[in-house]
Amino acid sequence: MDKRVLPLPDETATIALGAALAAACRQSCVIYLYGDLGAGKTTFCRGFLRALGYAGNVKSPTYTLVEPYELTPRTVYHFDLYRLADAEELEFMGVRDYFDQDALCLVEWPQKGQGILPDADIVLSLEYVGAGRQAQLESRSDRGAHILARLASRRENHS
Ligand code: ADP
Ligand code: MG
Repeated sequence: MDKRVLPLPDETATIALGAALAAACRQSCVIYLYGDLGAGKTTFCRGFLRALGYAGNVKSPTYTLVEPYELTPRTVYHFDLYRLADAEELEFMGVRDYFDQDALCLVEWPQKGQGILPDADIVLSLEYVGAGRQAQLESRSDRGAHILARLASRRENHS
């Protein structure tokens, strides 16, 4: 499906991408976030949550695995699976219940939940480039493709 690469020269750009994606999500959606430690996954989530009106602190839920944010129009679940020892632990925490709702799910370290975690609509991969970052966005479903198309048309209108 479609794939695009975006430069993210500084933290503000990562936050703006999170905000733009949140604005483009009109339905429930699953977004996988790949990238090394410090690549900006949580920064992206902060931008996403702020755009939906959340003004508080956003940290990676490294020890609790998931942090719920009950926002309008829908709940956001922010996962960080870095410390997950075994994907089967996700079954015990009833992970499907989170994904079956009409929610937006952001998942850091999705590779740790492979085999159990539901498929993504959108995959975002963040890489270090000099002092900044580069994002690769890829859709994995029709829903994801619609969201990325909306994102692209907004960017064109604003540039
Ligand atoms: P992760 O969740 O991937 O481990 P964080 O978002 O917690 O990463 O932290 C990334 C660090 O990199 C933060 O200090 C943030 O300010 C910084 N950062 C985020 N995006 C960029 C960017 N595009 N360019 C440079 N620094 C960035
Ligand atoms: Mg993080």
